[in-house]
Amino acid sequence: MAFSEQAQKAYLGFQQAFGDTEGVRVFFAPGRVNLIGEHTDYNGGHVFPCAISFGIYAAVRKRADRKLRFLSANFPQVGIAESSLDELVPSADGKWINYPMGVIWAFERAGEILHRPEVGSLKLNEGMDISIYGDIPSGAGLSSSAAMEVLIGTILRELYGFSMLSNQDLALIGQYSENEFNGMKCGIMDQFASAMGKEGCAIFLDTNTMVYEYAPIDMKGMKLMITNTKKKHQLVDSEYNLRRQQCAEAIRQLQTVCPDKKALGEFSIEEFEAVKNVITDPVVLKRAKHAVYENQRTIEAVAALKVGDLVRFGKLMNESHVSLRDDYETSCEEADILAEEAWKMPGVLGSRITGGGFGGCTVSIVREETVPEFIEKIGAIYLEKVGHDADFYELEISGGPRELVP
Ligand code: ADP
Ligand code: MG
Repeated sequence: MAFSEQAQKAYLGFQQAFGDTEGVRVFFAPGRVNLIGEHTDYNGGHVFPCAISFGIYAAVRKRADRKLRFLSANFPQVGIAESSLDELVPSADGKWINYPMGVIWAFERAGEILHRPEVGSLKLNEGMDISIYGDIPSGAGLSSSAAMEVLIGTILRELYGFSMLSNQDLALIGQYSENEFNGMKCGIMDQFASAMGKEGCAIFLDTNTMVYEYAPIDMKGMKLMITNTKKKHQLVDSEYNLRRQQCAEAIRQLQTVCPDKKALGEFSIEEFEAVKNVITDPVVLKRAKHAVYENQRTIEAVAALKVGDLVRFGKLMNESHVSLRDDYETSCEEADILAEEAWKMPGVLGSRITGGGFGGCTVSIVREETVPEFIEKIGAIYLEKVGHDADFYELEISGGPRELVP
């Protein structure tokens, strides 16, 4: 038996960088695609993501001293980056190692993050050498950052004996590290989807209560396709953080008439429509409308899926895209072209931008027999309109993080 090609890249990278592979262990954590429920996770709403077969691989070994050495085959120009357990501060030039460093830093606050004082501070006494290879297109809205955080969390738990942590805990610690160490105020969806992934299932998560349910994805002759605009999301951190502020402002104003509501996800459409005019700024109102309607769409979409109504599910995906394009304004021209051209094809049940936005990927439901036509037609139109090609992948739903053995 041998490692997969991807795992082997991490493993060989380790050998080349650090000399030998005695005692090295190999781990994987998946990226995710969100089927519906966008920008609802930090609004106390529902999301419906699944873990995907693209992810990040790491070959790793503990050291006897407090040094940390990092290598990523995806960032060869950085080479081996060295740090130590005594230097857990984000570096200003935003190097990729801020992600693993952030998770090690957040482990020291685990008890506080998880509201479980008995967990306390999970400090490492020895450093490690780690070699990374990822096959998730980075910055494509498929959450390579969350995959990295969940991967590092899994490694710390398995190598340093922090067996009190569940996968859900790893998601919360990963989110905290991205929020506080990397300054990206993401919700819980990405880390949750990576950490809790289950083969063949999407995860219906209520981010208000953290109650979740696995929904088997039975596509009945359809395929889920991911199309990458290959436009890296830009300004995403600042725009994302701005959307969060706008939603916080909306809920603050709504609370003047609905003091019991804590989040936009708690409003039904009727409740929201009855009081929405207390929101004074029209832009803030549009943002709030998206958050409320998108949450209700997600609940309805999962109900439709449960009764096998993929046509309805697809329509709701389309509505989600329109809302992200017009009200939340997190789409981009490239993703609009992909989605809008897909809607014109009879074999497509639904298509929408997925992930944080401003670039990245769309996800579409396509009749199996029309997949080649979908790729050819959409690909040609995209190339003509945008000037570079798009990438197409068939979605494979994966399980969560795991150790790999050859
Ligand atoms: P995404 O939508 O993929 O999560 P982000 O901008 O949130 O995009 O995260 C991308 C960042 O995560 C990269 O710039 C890099 O710092 C880190 N990252 C992702 N994949 C890898 C990898 N394979 N090796 C090293 N760092 C990675
Ligand atoms: Mg990310």
